[in-house]
Amino acid sequence: MPALIDWSYIAAAILFILGLKLLGKQATARKGNLISAVGMLIAIVATLLVSGLHYQWIIVGLVIGSAIGAVAAQRVQMTAMPEMVALFNGAGGLASLLVGWVEYHNHPNQLLSAAIPTFLAILIGGVTLTGSVLAYAKLAEKVQSRPVLFPYQKMINAGLFLLVLLFGVIFCAHPAGSYPILLLLILLAFALGVLTVIPIGGADMPVVIALLNSYSGLAAAAAGFIIQNTVLIVAGCLVGASGIILTQIMCKAMNRSITNVLFAGFGASTSSAGVAVTGEAKAITPESAYFVLEAAAQVVLVPGYGMAVAQAQHVLRELADLLEANGAEVRYAIHPVAGRMPGHMNVLLAEADVPYEQLVEMDAINPTMATMDVAIVIGANDVVNPAAREDPGSPIYGMPIINVDEAGTVFVLKRSMASGFAGIENPLFFKANTRMLFGDAKASLQALVTEFKSS
Ligand code: NDP
Repeated sequence: MPALIDWSYIAAAILFILGLKLLGKQATARKGNLISAVGMLIAIVATLLVSGLHYQWIIVGLVIGSAIGAVAAQRVQMTAMPEMVALFNGAGGLASLLVGWVEYHNHPNQLLSAAIPTFLAILIGGVTLTGSVLAYAKLAEKVQSRPVLFPYQKMINAGLFLLVLLFGVIFCAHPAGSYPILLLLILLAFALGVLTVIPIGGADMPVVIALLNSYSGLAAAAAGFIIQNTVLIVAGCLVGASGIILTQIMCKAMNRSITNVLFAGFGASTSSAGVAVTGEAKAITPESAYFVLEAAAQVVLVPGYGMAVAQAQHVLRELADLLEANGAEVRYAIHPVAGRMPGHMNVLLAEADVPYEQLVEMDAINPTMATMDVAIVIGANDVVNPAAREDPGSPIYGMPIINVDEAGTVFVLKRSMASGFAGIENPLFFKANTRMLFGDAKASLQALVTEFKSS
C-alpha cells in the first residue's frame, strides 16, 4: 500500500505540473484546470488510503469545505474574483498554521527537523491568514482602502520581524516545553500579517493577493514537511513559485518593483497626482458615433474593468461582428493589468466566444495604433491614461499603457468623468480626438448595435 500511495503522489505531482503548463495559454486553460483537478482527486484518494486516519472527521471537513467552496464559486461575481481568491488564500494559511499547531500539540518533543517546519508553517500561515483577510476587506472596501501610514512604521515592522525570528530560534532550539512561545509566535504572526498589509493601498491589493497566494503555498509546503506528505510539499512549492511569478508579471505590467508596491504607500495622498488636466471633455451620442464607426476600416476595442462591471462582453462581440460585416478589421487590445486580475479580460472575452486570434497584446497593438481609424475604450481608464507616458509627476508615470490617443478617433464608454482604480485624472478624456460616450457600457454598446441594425 505505501508504494501505491507514493506512486499516486508522483502521478498527482506530474498532473499538477502539466496542468499549470496548460493554464499558461488561453486555448488550453480549461484542460489545464481539469488535469490539475484530476491530480488533486488522485492525491486525496491516495491520502485516504494512509492507515490510521479518522475518516469521520475527514468526511465532515470534506462536506463543509466542498459546500462552502461550491456556494462561493457559484455566487461570486467575476469582478469580485480577487476578493474570493484572497479569502481562499487566508483559509490555506489557516490550515497550514493548524497543522503546525496540532502536530506540536500531539508531539511536543519535536526534533529540530520537525520544529523548523512547524515554526515556518505557523509564521507564514499566520501572516497569510490575517494579511489575506485584510486584503479582502480593503479590496471589498469593508475597511478604508487607502494606505495607513504612521511614524516609524517600517522600523516597527522590521523590529517585529526580528522578534519573530528570535522566538523562532528559541522555539526550534528547545521545542519541548516551548508551548507558550509557540502561542506567542501565532499572535506575532497574526500581527505581522496586519501590519505589513495596512501600509499598502487598495489599488495594489491584487498584487498583494498574488504574493499572499505564494505565501499560502510556502506554508502548505512547510506543513507537508511536518506531516511528511510528499504531494503537499510539491503542491505547496508549485503554488509558492507560481504566485511569485504572477506577482512579478503584475509588477512589470505596472512598471513598479515589488518593494515599491510593498513599502511605498502608493495612493496614500493625492498631492502627487501630476499636472492639472486642462481642456474640455466632449460628449457624443450613439447616433453620431455610429456615423464615424460606419466609415471606419480599422477599429480597435480596448476593454477594461468597466466592461466587467457592466457585463458588456457579449454585446461588445455583437458590435465587433457588425463592424466586420461592414468591412472593418477589428481587434481587441488587451492590457496585462486591465480589470482586477491578470487575464480578467481574456476570460470575459472567451466567455463571449471572441476568437483568440483577434486578441492582441499591448506590445503588439501599440506600434499599429496610429493606423487605427477608431479606438473604442470600454470601461478602461488607467490602462489608457497617457499621463503614464507624458507626465513625470503622475503616480502612474512609466506604467506601460495602450496608446489609444494615437488613433484617429477615440470613443470612451463610461458613466461619468470619475477616475479609475489608481484614483487619478485621465488627460485622454480631454484630447481633441476623444469623444465621451457616457452611460453604462452595456447600454452604450447596445445603442451602437441598434444603430447598425436599423441603418
Ligand atoms: P480602471 O479601474 O482604471 O477604470 C475602470 C473604469 O470603468 C472607471 O473609470 C469607471 O468609470 C468605468 N466603469 C465602471 N463601471 C462601468 C460601467 N458599468 N459602464 C461603463 N464604465 C464603467 O480600469 P482599467 O481596467 O483601465 O485598469 C485596471 C486598474 O487596476 C489599473 O490601475 C491596474 O493597475 C489595477 N490593477 C489591476 C490588476 C490586474 O491584475 N488586472 C492588478 C493590480 C492592479 P465610471 O465610474 O465613470 O463609469
